[in-house]
Parts: sequence; structure tokens; C-alpha cells
Amino acid sequence: MKYDYLVVGAGLYGAVFAREAKDAGKKVLVIDRRPHIAGNVYTEEVEGINVHKYGAHIFHTNNEKVWQYVNRFARFNRFTNSPVANYKGELYSLPFNMYTFNKMWGVVTPEEAAAKIEEQRKAAGITEPSNLEEQAISLVGSDIYEKLIKGYTEKQWGRPCRELPRFIIKRLPVRLTFDNNYFNALYQGIPEGGYTQMVSNMLEGVEVRTGVDYLENKAELDAVSDRVVYTGAIDAYFGYKLGVLEYRSVRFETEILDKPNFQGNAAVNYTDAATPWTRIIEHKWFEFGTQPKTVISREYSSEWKAGDDPYYPVNDEKNTKLYEEYKKLSAGEEKIIFGGRLGEYKYYDMDAVIASALKRCGEEFVKIS
Ligand code: UDP
Repeated sequence: MKYDYLVVGAGLYGAVFAREAKDAGKKVLVIDRRPHIAGNVYTEEVEGINVHKYGAHIFHTNNEKVWQYVNRFARFNRFTNSPVANYKGELYSLPFNMYTFNKMWGVVTPEEAAAKIEEQRKAAGITEPSNLEEQAISLVGSDIYEKLIKGYTEKQWGRPCRELPRFIIKRLPVRLTFDNNYFNALYQGIPEGGYTQMVSNMLEGVEVRTGVDYLENKAELDAVSDRVVYTGAIDAYFGYKLGVLEYRSVRFETEILDKPNFQGNAAVNYTDAATPWTRIIEHKWFEFGTQPKTVISREYSSEWKAGDDPYYPVNDEKNTKLYEEYKKLSAGEEKIIFGGRLGEYKYYDMDAVIASALKRCGEEFVKIS
């Protein structure tokens, strides 16, 4: 065998695994079917601006070990995610906080805001929320649900809020303070110089081949490595033999504009149902750019179909069940380690992917350097 590990996919899971394997003295080959490394965190410089080609990625974590780990490969700036919601031209602060409540209802104190939410929750008659709609109304009331959640969520997921799991909306904090920081995380920032540079630093000294499709060349690639770390879609690995897991995909329309400032913020969410895009990202604001031009991306969400890039696993009941079946099958593939958002069919944030890769590496090899 030429390699100890073949890592399929040069995204975060793959890059962390490869780094750790290399540092443990293993022979590693990383392949990716795309022409570049870094998976969906890939950034590309356009007009001096690092463009998040597969959507906005804002690194945030409470995990000390993960934070220290990523800081080995990049310096992180002080970017704080504070998206703005645009509902038919009305602008609201996100996540839901006192600025949002004040704009929505004119309330001034936290007590007034809490009373308003409670009144709307009571009127909706929800005691035990069982889906995203009920969860949202019980967290922030029906006005905010109607203006800032329903349209956005149904565009993003292509499913009625009543059919979506509650946990999706629980990703968003609700606060009775004037705090526009989207995340509750202790650490947050964007790697200076872009994510591609960070991943490239992780992969330093590791053999990487891009433009190589594992599933199309499986027998040949399996023959050169003892073990395979597979970070692609788990159902694709098994030729979809138990059925197709659903994903949401995203399409971007990116434009270079001959002006320094388009929307004054990195992310503006369009929360009404009629606007076809979910959000517009103005990339320069991730790094406080001073360039004379600006690059914006309109984000359109769609159901994944063969040939698209899968982005978000749809972790509803039906898909979760199907994934469990694939997971059972995967136990029979002794040579293969399945990891990452697609390999584990999990709505992982970046820090959770890194934590998961590091955990697996801890089980896999003892570090020698
Ligand atoms: N969401 C919403 N309105 C917004 C932003 C988010 O209703 O303006 C909901 C939506 O259901 C979304 C979920 O919150 O799927 C999680 O949003 P998050 O920003 O965490 O999604 P991601 O950044 O992963 O796309």
C-alpha cells in the first residue's frame, strides 16, 4: 500500500484529518473532485476581496480546543455576525433582540417585550411546540414569525414551517438585551486572507490531488490506501441503494459592482416570501474591506438534485430514518471512515466538523510530533 489514508474531500473534515494523520507520521493522500481545496468554505479573491464562493462562513465556537487549533493555521479578525433582515423594505436587527422588538412593536423595556411575546404565544395556544412554526411562535411571537421567519425559512428549506424540525430555529438566539451579535459563541471571526489560505496551511506538506472523483475511480483508489476517510454524501457512496437522502442546495448569483458600498453589511436576509433570493452577501464586510468596488452574491435555495452541490442535510424524520439505515450499512465498510456534514448527514457548523474530525483522529492514532 502506498498510503495509510486516502482522504476523500479537501473540506474542513478532510483537511483536519489529513493534518493530524501527517503529524502522526502517516502517509496521506487527499483528493477532491472539485478543481480546488477547502470544500464549501472555499474563498476566492475577486477585486482584492475574498469571496465566499459557496456561501457565507463565519467561524464561531465555544470550544477552546477547536479555537486554538484553527488559530494555528490562520489569524482571525474581529468580525461579528450581525445580519439585517429586510422585510419588504423594513429593516430589522438579527438575531431577535431588543432592537428587533422595539422596531416591531415600539416596546422599550425588556418587560414590555417579554409581555408582548407571551401575549402572542398565548393567543396561538401553543404549550408543547412540535414543529418549527410552533417553536418559532413560542419563542418570539406571531408577528416576528410572520415577518422574519416564515418566508425566509420556507424559501430556505422549500417546505412548510409546520413540517420542519424545531431544532433548526433554535440555532437562532432570542435575547431581551440590545445585542446584535448573531452567535452566542465565545470566539468568532474570519480567517484573514480567506478560508482557502487557512485550509492550504492545514494541508501543508500533504499530497493533494484536485479534480479526482473517488466514486468514479473507487477500485483503483482503494487499491493504493489502507484506509479511506470519506467526506462525501453517504447515500452517494452506497449508490443510493436504500433511497436518496434529501439535501438543500444553493445557487449564487455573484456581481461585481462599481461602487464601494452596496448594503453596508455582510449579510442582509430577505425574509418575505416574494423575493426569490434568501439573502445577499456583500463579501468585503467580512474583512472590513476598503476596496473601491464591491462583490455581492444573491443566494437562492433549491432542492438538491443529481449534479448539484449538496449543502444542507434535511434532518427531518424521514431523512433521519433513512440516514440511520445508511449508517448501519457503513458499519460493514471496515476500511472506510465516514465524516463531515455530508458523510454524517448532520447540519454541522464548522467548529463541530473540526471537533468531530479531531475526536476521530484521537481514536485513530497517537501523535508522534
Ligand atoms: N431564519 C429565519 N430568518 C432569518 C434567518 C434565519 O427564519 O432571517 C431561520 C431559518 O429557518 C434558518 C434557521 O433560522 O434555516 C437557521 O439559520 P442560520 O442562519 O443558522 O442558517 P445558516 O447560516 O446555516 O444558513
